[in-house]
Amino acid sequence: MSRATSPGCPLPALLGLSRERLAELLGPVVDRPFRVRQIYDALNQRAVAGFDEMTDLPKDLRSALAERFRIGMPRLARRAASDDGTVKYLFELDRPAEPARSESSAQSAGSSTQEDAGEPGRPAGATIEAVDIPDGARRTFCISSQAGCGLACRFCVTGFWGPGRNLTAGEILGQVLAIRRDADLPASGYNLVFMGMGEPLMNLEGVRGALDVLTETVSWRRITISTAGVVPGIDAMAAWEHRPNLAISLHAPDDERRSVLMPINRSYPMAELMAALARYPLERGRKLTIEYILIRDFNDALADADALARRLRGLRTKINLIPINPDPVLGEDMVPPDAARIDAFQARLERRGMVATVRRRRGDDVSAACGQLRAFGRDPRGFRDGLHSPVSEAVPDLAEPAHRS
Ligand code: SAH
Repeated sequence: MSRATSPGCPLPALLGLSRERLAELLGPVVDRPFRVRQIYDALNQRAVAGFDEMTDLPKDLRSALAERFRIGMPRLARRAASDDGTVKYLFELDRPAEPARSESSAQSAGSSTQEDAGEPGRPAGATIEAVDIPDGARRTFCISSQAGCGLACRFCVTGFWGPGRNLTAGEILGQVLAIRRDADLPASGYNLVFMGMGEPLMNLEGVRGALDVLTETVSWRRITISTAGVVPGIDAMAAWEHRPNLAISLHAPDDERRSVLMPINRSYPMAELMAALARYPLERGRKLTIEYILIRDFNDALADADALARRLRGLRTKINLIPINPDPVLGEDMVPPDAARIDAFQARLERRGMVATVRRRRGDDVSAACGQLRAFGRDPRGFRDGLHSPVSEAVPDLAEPAHRS
């Protein structure tokens, strides 16, 4: 396939475009509506990775397409299968086009770090991870919205590595298509959680674009967006005509401890976050998911369960307790409570009238568990503060975390 392109100037990508936008972009090459439909279906139903796979198109059309466009399917760089059936994927993305080109890749705002890591002349694309989690008859894909994360949550390995650019709609959708392609799965019958790398509500444009295509075949009810508590993003989603499920990473019952764990709490403290949740419209029968990571001797006391229940009073919620997944970069403090304490915490919440479940750990033998996804090919940024240091002061001996990877 001949592609007249220089490394710095990739062709426009087709993934992530709505039917209308696809028709517009293809206009100069494809003018028959049924051809556009064929191409849209090849991309989104059959998950093709190259134009040569569009065998229902005439050969000269395929080569005309290949000369002007790329599909934009993430390249599978590594695939790690866990003993429990979970599969973690490392994808390599194309370097995004320079600004003021096709809209499919026009949202590459955000502080870019990874792209700059490539040698001059041969730019490296960002890498991202996504996870396929089979669970009996259910199947859940955990996908990334950014190629890193700038929020620096103290318990999260992605945050330890630091920020990365926003993914385009096509790159978000592309993770789902690439997993389906690898596992030979149809276009529906799976759940989708935005719990991979990044903060989805800091990339609403990319996420929304991907959802518009994905929800042609997957119900909104089978999709969950998880946020660290970006209040303007929650308010923006509240105005959508259709909404996926919303999960909130809460993780502490009070501002003091939440600010230690999650610096974003200093921008959107709990009172503001709770107010945003209270005004968030919930369809009949739906609940907000409250994610609460249990960290031994930090937020796992029965009094914390009581305080959490008080915080959530009046909201329709289910609480998902997540025993923290430890990682060397997170330090010795970040370990889960023992099973008895986890059970006691859950029981206490239930006694207070809350719905609470414990999230089973999946894929941790291949570092695919929650909070273990990371960017590769660059140095970590690290965390400023330790778990037990005061919020406003950096503690010198904890300011340089061990760089074990
Ligand atoms: N930025 C979004 C989505 C990514 S995190 C958010 O904050 O929700 C997805 C889930 O994994 C969140 O609930 C997050 O808090 C959790 N998580 C992060 N690090 C973890 C760890 N080390 N152990 C267990 N869960 C973790």
